[in-house]
Amino acid sequence: MPERTESESRKLLRRLRDTLATPGKGQDRLDRITHLIADSMGTEVCSIYLFRDAETLELCATEGLRPESVHQTRMKLGEGLVGRVARTGLPVNTANAPSEKGFRYMPETGEEIYSSFLGVPIQRVGEKLGVLVVQSRTARQFNDDEIYALEVVAMVLAEMTELGVFASDVDGMRSLHKQPVMIRGGTGQEGAAEGRVWLHEARVVVTNPVADDPLTEIDRIRAAVGQLRVSVDDLLAAESLDKEQKQVLEAYRMFAHSRGWLKRMEDDIARGLSAEAAVEKEQSATRARLEQVPDAYLRERLHDLDDLSNRLLRILTGQGSDTGAEMPENPVLVARNIGPAELLEYGRKLKGVVLEEGSVGSHAAIVARALAIPLVIHADRIVTEALNGDPILVDGDQGIVHLRPEETVARAFRDKIAMQAAAQQRYANLRDLPALSKCGTVTHLMMNAGLMADLPSLEGSGAEGVGLFRTELQFLIRNKMPQRAELAALYARVMDAAKGRRVAFRTLDIGSDKVLPYMKPQDEPNPAMGWRAIRVGLDKPGVLRMQLQALIRAAKGRPLSVMFPFITEYGEFVTSRDHVMRELDRESAMGHVVPETVEVGAMLETPSLAFAPQAFFDLADFVSIGGNDLKQFFFAADRENERVRRRYDTLNVSFLRFLDQIIGRCETSGTPLSFCGEDAGRPIEAVAFAARGLRTLSMRPASIGPIKALLRRVDLSEAREVIDHAMAEGHESVRPALSEWLAAQPE
Ligand code: PEP
Ligand code: MG
Repeated sequence: MPERTESESRKLLRRLRDTLATPGKGQDRLDRITHLIADSMGTEVCSIYLFRDAETLELCATEGLRPESVHQTRMKLGEGLVGRVARTGLPVNTANAPSEKGFRYMPETGEEIYSSFLGVPIQRVGEKLGVLVVQSRTARQFNDDEIYALEVVAMVLAEMTELGVFASDVDGMRSLHKQPVMIRGGTGQEGAAEGRVWLHEARVVVTNPVADDPLTEIDRIRAAVGQLRVSVDDLLAAESLDKEQKQVLEAYRMFAHSRGWLKRMEDDIARGLSAEAAVEKEQSATRARLEQVPDAYLRERLHDLDDLSNRLLRILTGQGSDTGAEMPENPVLVARNIGPAELLEYGRKLKGVVLEEGSVGSHAAIVARALAIPLVIHADRIVTEALNGDPILVDGDQGIVHLRPEETVARAFRDKIAMQAAAQQRYANLRDLPALSKCGTVTHLMMNAGLMADLPSLEGSGAEGVGLFRTELQFLIRNKMPQRAELAALYARVMDAAKGRRVAFRTLDIGSDKVLPYMKPQDEPNPAMGWRAIRVGLDKPGVLRMQLQALIRAAKGRPLSVMFPFITEYGEFVTSRDHVMRELDRESAMGHVVPETVEVGAMLETPSLAFAPQAFFDLADFVSIGGNDLKQFFFAADRENERVRRRYDTLNVSFLRFLDQIIGRCETSGTPLSFCGEDAGRPIEAVAFAARGLRTLSMRPASIGPIKALLRRVDLSEAREVIDHAMAEGHESVRPALSEWLAAQPE
């Protein structure tokens, strides 16, 4: 890097900073900046284009192009050379702009006379803010130093834009972090909440992008990188790491020790940037480059580098993860992603959760569901858009988030929340009444649970017991395998809270989407159909046995109910049940009290079990239909795949006929049958199931009230006739007929 250019770019940055320091309106400042850049770079034109909305760029200031075109000329992302820079996040440098592919001629600007074009993105760690362009008449390519200088200036502009320096009065310009934004994501957990944003990882704010003294800045960046390296080395030295974790951290170490990375940041500083701005500039550039890479492994590394850059920024700014900011009232957690343990730590004080990534089956989603906190996943750009304390509405039913909503939207939303609360109050009045339908049939309503946090719902919801206790949640939220005594104490607390009501403990259901952080992940081509649930339990019975011992001890003589997940054939049930019997004998021989009665059941989650030999139904003390899994295998539609998971209706006659058959087999053998998948908590589905003969439904606690109210209003034998009729008529799904009938029922 020639010394001359370095000092010139420093000079330019200093002039830029002085310009920004003098008071003035946003538009004046932008105008002065374009003048200054054109002057310093020796070009006839300098223009600043900023995003008006996520898709549209607007010419916001120019030196050299026609002034009338300011705030008039717009282009879509990807359109023309400016749009290309914005889309790719990479510079475009050409000596002959009009001959470039994608060039768009904009007559109002008068730019046809300018041949050379250099455009660089104005971006801040993945957040695209605009494009900075210089143009000149003479046909020439800009050299590397010029590109570099313009990028450095763009970096400072990005920081200033982020701080809202220009937005105050610039006509029609998107004022960052101020306008209402609606983000359409996916439903992770139903429910509605109003609150204020609480960022899981607070944004680092850089207020000093330009530095006076490069030597001091270089010392700062070297010291910070040194500290970062030590912290990564310390992480690597931890003894508890397994091979995979080590590999990930090795990659971290490689980046942290990379000479190239530090050198590039030092070069940026030599150009006049502060240490913080240099880190961000490299972070943005690497992101833009890697985002073009289709290779999944490289993209993972992008996350690593991102994480390291964030750590470095926190070291430099002293803004640790604890930034001193106070959690607002009614906090809504906003994060790229979050682990189950972290989410659990926040606990019920959160009103809602919004994740940029996440999936329906992710552990965080499981915890949010257990805590009954509305969760929206796949909320694109939420982390970059939201600021701590911003008002936010979370619509978990629709999978929509309103950030900084207009008052009218907020008002409508509040009405919706109030209506839901009123309904909950009505349901509370039914709490101690049975789900007795008009025809005299009683349906037993149980709740699904898995965390200690669920236990208060046992009293509040009116559940007759726990139809499904997902024991894996206790394993998922820890970072090491729980001990037997710990589990025994925990299960005992569950039984204490149930006060004699039945709790069906499902043994560990891991594998597929539920991967224990401390167990070696299996690289399987199709984990949902792979080594999961009881298959793991039977092949490696150590944990299964430990869990059974814990359950027996927790019962302390009380009745115990155990069920096994994902039983696919009779033999698996026999072997699983034998484990229970063996542990009972063993515990008894050791002098421990054994449960008064032990029920051993199976979850019917694969179609094959419905066709098992009669002996299975005779041996099982009860059967519980795991509809989430059963449906995915029945329809061959992955429950985790947004594209197909809602494609087939549960009330499709094929599925109902299949349920009829299971109900029939259990009736023949006198085996109690329940349904514990998510569908049990959906109104029309619940009526259909009860009408077909399912006498026990287990669901999320919040669904019990509404389902009970509905079941009490209807005559199930009539509902059965409606379904039979729709089936006989050859309908694909009984939903339309049943919904119509339900709508006509008196309140
Ligand atoms: C099911 O599959 O329906 C079920 C209840 O189990 P899980 O959702 O935990 O797989
Ligand atoms: Mg299941």
